[in-house]
Amino acid sequence: MIKPVPHVSAMAAYALADLGGAHTISMAQNESTFPASPAAIAAGQAAMAELPLYPNPEWPDLRAAIAETYMLEPNLILCGAGSMELIGCLIRAYAGPGDRVLGTDYGYAFVSSASAQVQADYVKAREVDLTVSMDEILAAVTPETRIVFVCNPGNPTGTLISNAEIIDLRNALPADVMLVVDQAYAEFSDAGNDPAEIFALVERGDTVVMRTLSKAYGLAGARVGWGYFPAKIGAEVRKLLNPNNVSIPSQAAAAAAVRDQVHMRDVVARTAEIRDRFADDCRAMGLHLPQSHTNFVLLRFASPEQAQAADQALRAENLLMRGMGGYGLSDCLRATICAPEVMDRARDVLKGALK
Ligand SMILES: *Cc1c(COP(=O)(O)O)cnc(C)c1O
Repeated sequence: MIKPVPHVSAMAAYALADLGGAHTISMAQNESTFPASPAAIAAGQAAMAELPLYPNPEWPDLRAAIAETYMLEPNLILCGAGSMELIGCLIRAYAGPGDRVLGTDYGYAFVSSASAQVQADYVKAREVDLTVSMDEILAAVTPETRIVFVCNPGNPTGTLISNAEIIDLRNALPADVMLVVDQAYAEFSDAGNDPAEIFALVERGDTVVMRTLSKAYGLAGARVGWGYFPAKIGAEVRKLLNPNNVSIPSQAAAAAAVRDQVHMRDVVARTAEIRDRFADDCRAMGLHLPQSHTNFVLLRFASPEQAQAADQALRAENLLMRGMGGYGLSDCLRATICAPEVMDRARDVLKGALK
């Protein structure tokens, strides 16, 4: 009998989003409803001519684009096939059997799966009012804790804590505990929240910041994420990355997308406008929604039964939101912000279901 190693055999498969049928409109994966920058699409297409070659393992032009745009040191940037790849390699490099990886109640589900892959224990600190709590995180740190993951803005909550709170948390954590700030949605909150303050934490040597092209830049299908790493941590993670991890068209498209900040900011502004109008409509129907700082909203219903009934009514109209039972929020659905006409349909179906 051919057998896998026991801890892999014991793992559940990663819970992927339900994608529905051919006519389904997905509001389930927080993809951008707007296309990527036209410059990014053109660069990706032009790069197809280079496909006989392997991609450059140093991502030189993409790193340069990120470094210029965010005013960072290019050598401290690592690119991944999505930030998922970087998160997985970081956990493999810094946690093992018996170690703890600490997240929060509604933190990113993939961190739990990546911890199980290395037999580390994934533990969740409580959130308060669907928001990350520095005190709860500090109370959950033990001598076994190796890495703390904070997702800010949060997914699936959409809530934001201030840069000052992140900096206070870093100062209060033991020096041998790594802090990872997952900023997958930060482009939606950067305007009022100087990103340089968080990137500066990397200079301390114990903090990593993760970003992605999958959300505000509209390139989820290209699979490009990046992180800002202290040199020593980056060198270890580097050993575990697939050396040719980001394809040539993806590197080209991502570099052009990052250089087109005007397009990205326009997407962010239009998304926020659609989001806030939908949120107001939902609140007017009596639903509870925390203020979102992302491209999705969390809808809180009166009960799990009501959330389920709303989900069924939406599905009957080919609208698919994301159920939140896996996060212990079975009274909630998460809705990615889509085109205004889709949001209006969703609002009307919800209105009918809540009668
Ligand atoms: C979407 C998302 C990511 C990014 O995933 P990619 O692998 O870069 O597509 C990371 N963290 C959170 C919380 C996310 O929602």
